[in-house]
Amino acid sequence: MKAEIIAVGTELLLGQIVNTNAQFLSQKLAGLGVDVYFQTVVGDNAGRLREAIEIGRSRADLLVFTGGLGPTQDDLTKDVLAEYLNRNLLIHEPSMAQIEHMFSSRGIHMVESNRRQALMIEGGEPLENTTGLAVGNGLSVDGTLYLLLPGPPREMKPMMDGAGEAWLRAELGAADPLYSRILKFAGIGESNLEAKLIPLIDGQIDPTIAPYAKEGEVSIRVSTKAGSAIDADQKIDETVAKIKALVGEFLYAQEDIPLEEEVIHLLRASRRKLASAESISGGLLAELITNVPGSSGEYVGGVVTYTNIMKHHLLSIPLTQLEGEGAPGAISDSTAAIMAERVRELSDADFGVSLTGVAGPAESEGKPVGLVYVGISQRGRATEVFTLNLSGGRSMIRLRAVKSALYRLWL
Ligand code: ATP
Ligand code: MG
Repeated sequence: MKAEIIAVGTELLLGQIVNTNAQFLSQKLAGLGVDVYFQTVVGDNAGRLREAIEIGRSRADLLVFTGGLGPTQDDLTKDVLAEYLNRNLLIHEPSMAQIEHMFSSRGIHMVESNRRQALMIEGGEPLENTTGLAVGNGLSVDGTLYLLLPGPPREMKPMMDGAGEAWLRAELGAADPLYSRILKFAGIGESNLEAKLIPLIDGQIDPTIAPYAKEGEVSIRVSTKAGSAIDADQKIDETVAKIKALVGEFLYAQEDIPLEEEVIHLLRASRRKLASAESISGGLLAELITNVPGSSGEYVGGVVTYTNIMKHHLLSIPLTQLEGEGAPGAISDSTAAIMAERVRELSDADFGVSLTGVAGPAESEGKPVGLVYVGISQRGRATEVFTLNLSGGRSMIRLRAVKSALYRLWL
């Protein structure tokens, strides 16, 4: 199965947005055992889109479109493909009902063009949009598969992961199913992980090992086309064993769950409780942890002590520790240690975790961007502080810092 991804949108050609959908789809398709041979970007122009379809059809068996399913005049994907295939556009009634309900329930007037989002190409399968209004389409015509997905990543990804993948798997045929397992890593960067796995990835034909990116997380997908589920499980187990031999200490789960969830599971299993004191991350750790259902059993809470005065008032850190000539400063291993200890003592939790550092863009206290200290205070043990030198923009540094702190808790 050869695939081509066709991203539709003039904004992409103008460089106003980055084609992140193509990256996501390429990884996704690789994981499904589909080889992507081409990625095309075409503007919102009927003639050129038609040309892209013709070329795509001549060199691929699966064309995956993203973008142009919306209500406006420049959203042409369905119209152009329907015309190319000589098929009608039909209204998908459940989608139409959903669109009408959305507008009436919010008391917003619905303009006629919104109905366009409920259109599908005759003979195609509707693909449910769980986060938006435009219905997707899966279509098989004369040996070519067409998959139509919306442009906004927050609609495209869930659709591809849900109805899109289900449709594609069915089309690829039960005779040739693909079994896969997601491996999740922490405490190691993507390129580092890949470098360590190169000997394995290079020699590997089946199962395949493919990276599977998610923001701030490092995952790979091991897939095989083994004959039966039992064979597949065994083959995947063998590959996982080889992976473990190389990078086992960073592997925290063999399913697609976030690190914070795994940390909560561990705390639950050992009946321990966690508290947090955050500076650089501004509550992001608390946000991720409280996203895990039922985390109130393990996470007692935390403080965001962003300024020195708050570190002083809420955590009783002496100002002489935080500022002034010769003071270690807020961004220091000793401050990280005190933050973790104080928040643990205050809350009577078993673990206190702290984060202090420089997210950038400018340095702080004369310390470089990306320098982060993670403190871990555990009841009955000496407090540990880990020094991180992180790269990336401000939000990436904050996310990486939090994931690193979670990794230390997981260990
Ligand atoms: P809408 O209903 O929002 O109009 P649509 O399916 O018609 O959705 P487009 O109009 O092509 O999609 O794009 C909508 C937005 O989705 C773009 O402005 C952009 O923010 C995002 N987007 C579109 N294509 C891509 C892409 N290939 N990669 C990343 N983001 C994209
Ligand atoms: Mg649009």
